[in-house]
Amino acid sequence: MRMTILNCGAIVVVGMLGAIPVVCARQNPGRVHQDLSVLPVQGNLYMISGAGGNIAVQVGSMGVAIVDTGNGTMSDEVMAAIRKLSDKPLQYIINTHYDPDHTGGNESIRKAGVTITGANVTGNISDARDGAQVIAHDNVLNRMSAPTGIQPPEPAGAWPTQTFLKGKKDLYFNDEAIETIYQPAAATDGDSLVFFRHSDVLVAGDVFLTTSYPLIDVEKGGTVQGTINALNRILEIAVPKHEEEGGTYIIPGHGRICDEFDVLEYRDMVVIVRDRVKAAVRKGMTLEQVKAAHLTRDYDARYDAKSALGSADKFIEAVYQSLSPQKK
Ligand SMILES: [Zn+2]
Repeated sequence: MRMTILNCGAIVVVGMLGAIPVVCARQNPGRVHQDLSVLPVQGNLYMISGAGGNIAVQVGSMGVAIVDTGNGTMSDEVMAAIRKLSDKPLQYIINTHYDPDHTGGNESIRKAGVTITGANVTGNISDARDGAQVIAHDNVLNRMSAPTGIQPPEPAGAWPTQTFLKGKKDLYFNDEAIETIYQPAAATDGDSLVFFRHSDVLVAGDVFLTTSYPLIDVEKGGTVQGTINALNRILEIAVPKHEEEGGTYIIPGHGRICDEFDVLEYRDMVVIVRDRVKAAVRKGMTLEQVKAAHLTRDYDARYDAKSALGSADKFIEAVYQSLSPQKK
């Protein structure tokens, strides 16, 4: 079953085989018409796509936790979609990394949530503060904020409220252990995987995508080896269903819901390209020569996003720079 929420607020449920084209009766003339798609993943987890990076939503008896907030241009629609899944308080936002297409909705969506500071013996809320908690690695806060007196890149209302430095941060919410696991120097210097243990769903952020090559941002501390390590960590955590699709489901930063086999194929591709670039670096080839050699030719039809960070050129550049930083 697939539920689509249009930005006019209309909700459409269609079968797995395809979407029914629907026209909104009330169009917003100042905005490009865009649909949000809401898919049940497994257990307590749903995926909202169409608002920038994928957003994961966990619902349960205590409230709502989400992973990432999209790019901020459709926060009202994202909140409307969450409200269709649960009317309980949004208490936690976890950010997989800093990029604005994953944290852009932090400020507005956080405001719609609450921090529960007290509950009576029956579990009813007795005290609550405005605004959900925002959990992320400390480097996400570092990239969004700035020292006193300097204009920060993002407003204070969007910043993480709970950060951690290494290892993982544990949270128990909606009868489920949620592990936010730091992956050093992967796509950036602040990536985390978020694993919902009971639902058996892992949210990967931009270390794993089905729409492009990895988005390794060397300027923000990303490296190819850290990205491979993060993909290997997903493979360690994920357990496939015997000889079938399914088992642990993985929500990529962008693209469709995946299982372990999809991550295996992607990890192998990144390792093969890394080895090709490594051999070229050993031969003393310059970045321009490596780009001209088209070392990703056999994968381009599937992964070359043609523009921006996920393109073959940018991926090769990021791999080259992470392997030989002095040759930038
Ligand atoms: Zn992204």
